[in-house]
Amino acid sequence: MHINVAWSGRRGKCSLHCSEPILKYTKVVRGTGLSSAGYRYRLQWHFDCWVKQALEYLDEHKPEPRAGGPGRKELGLDADTRRQRHNLIVMAYRLKLRRTAAIESSQLWKLDELDKKLEGVKAELELVGGKPSHWV
Ligand SMILES: [Zn+2]
Repeated sequence: MHINVAWSGRRGKCSLHCSEPILKYTKVVRGTGLSSAGYRYRLQWHFDCWVKQALEYLDEHKPEPRAGGPGRKELGLDADTRRQRHNLIVMAYRLKLRRTAAIESSQLWKLDELDKKLEGVKAELELVGGKPSHWV
């Protein structure tokens, strides 16, 4: 939503449904709303009403630092399993490269075997933490 501040040019109603009318030449916050049908409509609030609800919103939505910092969560595997998982992922990546190369050089009879191997690697991966989330 786009928000800006202005001096009210005429009387109006506050979009927060407070009882006070908006008087001419008072400070207002203006914005646009989007209806469920896709129409934009104009909104106008008393400056103080808007700031009050904004502060309430921010107090309700405190920032929480993520435990362990940014980035992907660790799977919590021991060193051997991690290495095994890494090797499997590398193996799968090489198979995918060979698959692409086979398609590019029109050696399509290789595809069956490569796909079978890839499925095998994926099945083994399921035993050591599952396949990476971005794989299809
Ligand atoms: Zn108001």
